[in-house]
Amino acid sequence: MMLYQSFLIKYAEIGTKGKNRYLFEDALMKQIRHALKEVDGVFAVTKEFGRIYVEAKGEYDFEDTVAALKRVFGVAWICPMFQIEEKDFDNLKREAVDYIDQVYPDKNLTFKVDSRRADKKYPVTSEQMNRDLGEAVLTAFPQMKVDVHHPQVMLRVEVRNMVNIYSQMIPGPGGMPVGTNGKAMLLLSGGIDSPVAGYMVAKRGVKVEAVYFHAPPYTSERAKQKVVDLARLVSRYSGPMRLHVVNFTDIQLYIYDQCPHEELTIIMRRYMMRIAEMIGKESECLALITGESIGQVASQTVQSLAATNEVCTMPVFRPVIGFDKQEIVDIAEKIGTYETSIEPFEDCCTIFVAKHPVTKPNVKVIRRSEEKLTEKIDDMVRTAVDTREILVCS
Ligand code: ATP
Ligand code: MG
Repeated sequence: MMLYQSFLIKYAEIGTKGKNRYLFEDALMKQIRHALKEVDGVFAVTKEFGRIYVEAKGEYDFEDTVAALKRVFGVAWICPMFQIEEKDFDNLKREAVDYIDQVYPDKNLTFKVDSRRADKKYPVTSEQMNRDLGEAVLTAFPQMKVDVHHPQVMLRVEVRNMVNIYSQMIPGPGGMPVGTNGKAMLLLSGGIDSPVAGYMVAKRGVKVEAVYFHAPPYTSERAKQKVVDLARLVSRYSGPMRLHVVNFTDIQLYIYDQCPHEELTIIMRRYMMRIAEMIGKESECLALITGESIGQVASQTVQSLAATNEVCTMPVFRPVIGFDKQEIVDIAEKIGTYETSIEPFEDCCTIFVAKHPVTKPNVKVIRRSEEKLTEKIDDMVRTAVDTREILVCS
């Protein structure tokens, strides 16, 4: 038998006010169920006002379960607990003692009891419960001591429909449940930054779709597979993610033929944004997401960002804009995308890259260069959008 069969999930109160609360809770439960699919075991996820419970039906892997719950945005605390149905106070005392006995083999500890009754009809007040449960624990384990200010064990007892007994609180990732804040389209390359950007926006409750610009035969199947792998890694947090793979080769070659080579990257990035926005609109996205960070490369100077941004009507979220590379790497390592991101496969941006790209593009000049594309570009963009491949990564 496992030590714990249930978990109490505490969520932050942000966004849970009033009539939207159930939306928040339902989205959280959906994401919890999704995350637990990876874990060995069968789980029931239920809610009671202000609380969500995860109950394992039979054998399960405790460590994997906690790890999965730590990936669910909106979870503030994960509390492994004893949940008992029999509320009779004498039984509750026995259960509290049993909890301490099982969870703390070494009894050389200070403790405090923190009781609550949501059920106000319960015959014992919370103050009385604190005293009597404390006394029961002291009687059973005389080596334990009460410390009301800095106890090593804070024994929490909540009388609700059932009684929750717990003392351990494992921090969750915070944030908001995915699905509570609309949807955005992530420009996902095979690099380090864009998966982190997607993760960060998903953390605020935004559902994420992704678009990848593929340039076969200049970029290989393996490079595409790497992006699929990254989408899958991000989906461990964000839930299943649609990935739109756009064939960008013809557009890239056309720009290469018609426009000054030092402007190639900027013009290409503008077309990426335009196409991402077109696909985003079709998928009911309200914003775009990129992994851009000021000054990181020539295409990310403030002037370049302004030139790229100019073609978008949707807001563009750039959550890593103010981060140094190392700060982005730290997050990539934490969320588990780094190892995949550094696999050495070519990126479509690097293939046609000029020796001396413009670092301070003038938007008027760029617009004039783009006029050289008028003849074919609209058809090419339409074709690229229409022929895209859509994969579901989870
Ligand atoms: P990353 O590490 O995310 O690849 P990067 O430092 O390589 O970023 P760039 O190549 O300048 O930066 O790209 C900036 C942003 O443009 C990326 O973070 C990503 O959002 C988007 N992007 C670049 N290339 C592609 C691509 N082939 N498909 C989709 N989005 C892309
Ligand atoms: Mg890149």
